[in-house]
Amino acid sequence: MQKIALLGATGSIGTSALKVLRQHPDRFTLSAVAAGRQWEKLLPILEEFRVPVACLWDADSAAELRKRTRAKVLEGMDGLLEMVSDSGVDFVLNGLVGSIGCRPTLEAITRGKRVGLANKESMVMAGEILNEALRNHPEARLIPIDSEHSAIFQCLAGRPVAEVEQILLTASGGPFRTRPAADFGSIRKSDALKHPTWVMGEKITIDSATLMNKGLEVIEAHYLFGAPFSGIKVVIHPGSIIHSFVQFRDGSLMAQMGCPDMQLPIQYALTYPERWPLKVDRLDMAALAKLEFFPPDMAKFPCLGLAYRAGDLGGTAPAIVNAANEAAVARFLEDRAAATPGAIAFTDIPRVIADVLNAAEIKPRPGLDDVIAADAWARKAAQMIMNDGPDAHTRAVRSAVSAASSESGREGSGKASARTGNR
Ligand code: MG
Repeated sequence: MQKIALLGATGSIGTSALKVLRQHPDRFTLSAVAAGRQWEKLLPILEEFRVPVACLWDADSAAELRKRTRAKVLEGMDGLLEMVSDSGVDFVLNGLVGSIGCRPTLEAITRGKRVGLANKESMVMAGEILNEALRNHPEARLIPIDSEHSAIFQCLAGRPVAEVEQILLTASGGPFRTRPAADFGSIRKSDALKHPTWVMGEKITIDSATLMNKGLEVIEAHYLFGAPFSGIKVVIHPGSIIHSFVQFRDGSLMAQMGCPDMQLPIQYALTYPERWPLKVDRLDMAALAKLEFFPPDMAKFPCLGLAYRAGDLGGTAPAIVNAANEAAVARFLEDRAAATPGAIAFTDIPRVIADVLNAAEIKPRPGLDDVIAADAWARKAAQMIMNDGPDAHTRAVRSAVSAASSESGREGSGKASARTGNR
């Protein structure tokens, strides 16, 4: 019996993970579940899987849940850290959204757990720190769940990165792949939430529309597999049938294919290196009319280039880009009417990120506190730039930066900044 802590149990990864667990009730038990604030969705999961421990990020939601369950109910970052470090947990499946997933990933590694990582922000923010922790805790294991990275992991099949010529990350291209750049000004939240192939949470769906999701995945791949950024390429593949490629130095190109269903990478992380039966749709190769590939349009989707730039800069730059993106996407999802203060357009998302990155002081070889402080700074800088309106971007940067710096200096790092996480 493998004992699992599922973080992000009510989200799209959590829902797929529960489907996998239902297929193998004799092999897995759910020892702990965590969610943001949706206690109403967490309660039936506690009952169905007889889970003894739950955690909610939001304290009021935790109080509501406590009234209705005999399970132990934890809350906030402390609750997440307690949950993942429990000696009764073998496997931590991290399906949290955003930067709050970072500390639980690190904690699980330092406790020697197996970690299935769907929270790409962990690797983006703290790739070097997590890799060092993995070196110091050889009993721990980090297995990617992001579909592209699971594909790369499967294609590599344990071969060293020195044998790899390039990694090709596939991207669906999102809903605006064929929309002319001139029409991007009229994009609304409802347009951006129409993903052509994957059904996911709102934040990652917007990231897919801007291609920032792919940019974050480039950084994630760099830290997961140790490949240089020059050897990680993005290819647009609208069908989402091939989940990524690895080209080896002898020219052999390996691809991992399957219907777009997260149950497969989730189960593979749980059973690695074994492969267990799984009831998901099978690809019908004869019915596949064609497989299409295109180069990404870097001018139409500047977020992708921003992510490469942050990756090349290294240090705290990826955490800064990630946090600025989270703040901009959260604001875009508020869907404020165009004329209201603080409203941002779809095309403002990369502008906000670029302004924050341009103004940032990048710290090389950061520790976790540096990463969390950089995250908090970037979030505040982004808020101030957005509040000043799109026309005042450049002028706003300097004042935003100095104000945010002095504020995050007062607040310090540690627990206070853990609250800045965005769900
Ligand atoms: Mg992905």
